[in-house]
Amino acid sequence: MANKWVYTFKEGNMTMRNLLGGKGANLAEMTEIGLPVPQGFTITTEACTQYYEDGRKINDEIMAQAMEGVAWMEKENGKKFGDLKNPLLVSVRSGARASMPGMMDTILNLGLNDDVVAAMIAGNPDPKFERFVYDSYRRFIQMFSDVVMEVGKKYFEQLIDKMKADRGVKFDVDLTAADLKELAEQFKAEYKNQLGTEFPSDPVEQLKLAIEAVFRSWDNPRANVYRRDNDIPYSWGTAVNVMPMVFGNLNNESGTGVAFTRDPATGENKLMGEFLINAQGEDVVAGVRTPMPIAQMEQEFPEAYAEFLKVCETLENHYHDMQDMEFTVENKKLYMLQCRNGKRTAPAALKIACDLVDEGHKTPEEAVAMIDPRNLDTLLHPQFDAAALKAATPIGKGLGASPGAACGKIVFTAEDAEEWNARGEKVVLVRLETSPEDITGMKASQGILTVRGGMTSHAAVVARGMGTCCVSGCGEIKINEEKKEFTLGGHTFHEGDYISLDGTTGKIYNGDIKTQEASVGGNFKRIMDWADSFRKLGVRTNADTPADTKNAVKLGAEGIGLCRTEHMFFDPERIHNLRRMIVSDTVEAREEALSKLLPYQKGDFKAMYKALEGRPMTVRYLDPPLHEFTPKTEEEMADLAKDMGITVDEVKKKCDELHEFNPMMGHRGCRLAVTYPEIAKMQTRAVIRAAIKVQKAHPDWTIKPEIMIPLVGEVKELKYVKKFVVETADAEIAAAGIDLKYEVGTMIEIPRAALTADEIAKEADFFCFGTNDLTQMTFGFSRDDAGKFLNAYYDAKIYENDPFAKLDQTGVGKLMKMAIELGKSSNPNMHLGICGEHGGDPSSVEFCDGLGLDYVSCSPFRVPIARLAAAQAAINNK
Ligand code: PEP
Ligand code: MG
Repeated sequence: MANKWVYTFKEGNMTMRNLLGGKGANLAEMTEIGLPVPQGFTITTEACTQYYEDGRKINDEIMAQAMEGVAWMEKENGKKFGDLKNPLLVSVRSGARASMPGMMDTILNLGLNDDVVAAMIAGNPDPKFERFVYDSYRRFIQMFSDVVMEVGKKYFEQLIDKMKADRGVKFDVDLTAADLKELAEQFKAEYKNQLGTEFPSDPVEQLKLAIEAVFRSWDNPRANVYRRDNDIPYSWGTAVNVMPMVFGNLNNESGTGVAFTRDPATGENKLMGEFLINAQGEDVVAGVRTPMPIAQMEQEFPEAYAEFLKVCETLENHYHDMQDMEFTVENKKLYMLQCRNGKRTAPAALKIACDLVDEGHKTPEEAVAMIDPRNLDTLLHPQFDAAALKAATPIGKGLGASPGAACGKIVFTAEDAEEWNARGEKVVLVRLETSPEDITGMKASQGILTVRGGMTSHAAVVARGMGTCCVSGCGEIKINEEKKEFTLGGHTFHEGDYISLDGTTGKIYNGDIKTQEASVGGNFKRIMDWADSFRKLGVRTNADTPADTKNAVKLGAEGIGLCRTEHMFFDPERIHNLRRMIVSDTVEAREEALSKLLPYQKGDFKAMYKALEGRPMTVRYLDPPLHEFTPKTEEEMADLAKDMGITVDEVKKKCDELHEFNPMMGHRGCRLAVTYPEIAKMQTRAVIRAAIKVQKAHPDWTIKPEIMIPLVGEVKELKYVKKFVVETADAEIAAAGIDLKYEVGTMIEIPRAALTADEIAKEADFFCFGTNDLTQMTFGFSRDDAGKFLNAYYDAKIYENDPFAKLDQTGVGKLMKMAIELGKSSNPNMHLGICGEHGGDPSSVEFCDGLGLDYVSCSPFRVPIARLAAAQAAINNK
């Protein structure tokens, strides 16, 4: 056989995740350790890749092997596909290497048709059984139409709602066998009405179409968004799992549930989950009915519950991690349908990791490796201000589905959430329930509030994954989505009204409650201390105010890797003097204006050196094109003209002169210092004077200023500017009579600098990679405008990620590697860092560790992420 595309659950195991996907590998593993799993088979992820290579076609070899899988399954289960005596019904479910909850598609009850339905009913006289068969049939038609044939779910839901209204009942379970039979007929008619063809009755055809739909779903828009957000490569593909149905909707002795061995919201070591009697799995996840807590299952199905508890223990001991499980009870007997390492909130991830170490399941190194650095973000996000919260009275309560605090203006649709967010509004998305199409709107929201759905509903799972605050299942809300309003606790809310959510307690508040920064201690500190003991890379921060510096130090920054000095000029008085400098025509006038800026710069540097308590600081000299600071309004121009004793026309003329067609490649960076050396001189005075002051006041600290010249592409540029810097610095140091060392280095952010790094390194004490500009100039597209066309690049599968967020290791990374090798060859003692946005992106941090950089530098809130990512990089690159 050329290729093996299909594995039965008895042929696989958990080490085969890449080939079988997470779900397939774990179903095989559960089979191997003797847990009750309905026996089916997995079509490999390679078959999915092949499907795309073959122009979105399942080739004959794959299909033939799938049919061999069906034959094996028939034998194993003693039932036959499409048989009228003992029909086999199956589920077809996706399962990628990394779990993508709610992103991919599932089809249940496949294999039903009119004949099979009639035969099943004829074989069992119990009227309840008839109801079950029709319930399964109408579910199958609905799911198949929706997932496989892409006929909107809403048409079928409208028919169900109409049926319920006609019969005067509230829940699906209140519909009779006759009602469901009629619904199944209506559904088939709707299918024909929408597609113009009969509903396919041949189970083999149904299966082929369903497998194809799962492969196709790998490329649906929400899967593409999820993959990009979670760093999952498109090339991985998804596996397809085909397994015999067990029926939670068979009768009242049956049911279905979802559970976690530990609480995924808090990490507490206690079983958490939900269970529905007489239902299929989709009912729990879709939040259509509000389920009962798992503990209640003990009263309903004591034996199955006792067995389930044993399964939980077995699985945790086997996987050494918290498990997320789906199971079904059919006629009181337990079946396991899925297990995986459960998704969890950031606080839960930390608690579980620490507990697993204390319980002897994991080493500290393994505990550090199991935490997704991106998850830490939520911990560092604001919580409600305690006093403001105390003063507020909740107006309602739902489930605390994803922690954190959120306040914002109410919107009712995912599209509005996106639109409002794009214009700078903070929004809270309020929905009856969310569905996978809402993902981009959910991402654009501060928080999500749903009327229906439990802790495992789509909204809850997705929000937890994104780290967005979510309160789900607040049934007290009376919502009218069409009119964009709802009532809760006696208040009526309209679109645009403020609301606040507490995703930890589930409480809902009227209005806008103040938030405050998160604190970092306990499990967080424990994990971070372990991470620090493993990592080799230093972690610095990008900061340009004393407040940011203090915050970053609190979050573990070991220094400043980038202080963008232009950010220090935005204060009205400062910018006024900066404008005077820009508009001045003579060196004297410029120096006069600069002398007014000197005390501000010096003051800021002093405060930052103090906040750093001896940690290093790299000060990057003025970088952006001057026109960014020119006066924009008539009033600002008039002000400046008056102050300088010139006419408004003269100011305007100067501003026009500064206009550039391509400012990002224009008069900026070290080119400013080449044309106006007095700027570099002023900045040197400010840094050196501040350093001297703080060094004198704190003899126990070693202050060694690192002066960084931006946008160098030619060694002579650096040499030219450096001369002014060194002359000025040496004069200041001599005048102060102090022994202060300092360094002058450069950013590597122009491809030419990387290509000639051996030359540049002769003049530089350090290199810091400015990968924002290096990416811009390597790709040749603007860092400010790329967002406008990148979506088309994702759709066309040209790029999978935004190269400004995730380092392009192939191209930009190659330039970095070259620059390091060339640089070190002529200056082996130089130190190396990165301070572009990539310094806080986990996969880029791992790459930097591999390159042998000394440190990464990122924004203050990303510092813990970088610390953890650096530790994981050291563990992985070992
Ligand atoms: C860079 O280009 O990567 C960088 C850090 O500098 P800036 O973002 O200020 O251009
Ligand atoms: Mg730059």
